[in-house]
Amino acid sequence: MLSSQPYQEQLECPRCHQHSIVQRNRDIYQCLNCQFQRDFSESAGDGFVGTLVAALALVLLLALV
Ligand SMILES: [Zn+2]
Repeated sequence: MLSSQPYQEQLECPRCHQHSIVQRNRDIYQCLNCQFQRDFSESAGDGFVGTLVAALALVLLLALV
C-alpha cells in the first residue's frame, strides 16, 4: 500500500480560498469547507445563453437610443 489517500488534485475554492475542492461526479466539484458547488457540464451552456441574452439586451438598448 502506497497511501491511504488516492491521488487527488486539490483545487482552490473561489469562495473560501481553501484547497478543499473534491470531485463529486464526473463534472461536479464541491468544496468541503463551504459547500460551494460547480457543475462544469451545465456551466458551459449557461455561459452561452447568458452571452446570448446579454447581446440581445445590448441590441435592444441600442435600438431604443
Ligand atoms: Zn469553499
